Amino acid sequence: MSDDAIRRDLLAERERTTAQIADLGRQFDAIVGSAEFDSVDDEHDPDGATIGFERAQTAALLDGARHHLAEVDRALERLVAGTYGVCEQCGDVIAPERLAARPATTTCIRCATRLNN
Ligand SMILES: [Zn+2]
Repeated sequence: MSDDAIRRDLLAERERTTAQIADLGRQFDAIVGSAEFDSVDDEHDPDGATIGFERAQTAALLDGARHHLAEVDRALERLVAGTYGVCEQCGDVIAPERLAARPATTTCIRCATRLNN
């Protein structure tokens, strides 16, 4: 894949992720807002527990999306620096199939597996 094609992919990914963050942010605000209006008691009100769960879940998704956005930005920087497609951990070339599936990845499959364990 050419650098231009990769950049296009990454910019599209960036746009999707930014939209997702905005979406999740609105969801999160809505959950927090509804909790405030009901002045729920997380422990005794079953709805409160659900809201607490939704809030935690949305916060986790939001965290993940923000992390992913940072990853995409780093991938774009790496593209400019000429280090795109090289594993940050071991310096090996990242398999093209892996980059095609996850354009923003910064590690080869071996290191990714190792880091997750
Ligand atoms: Zn590696």
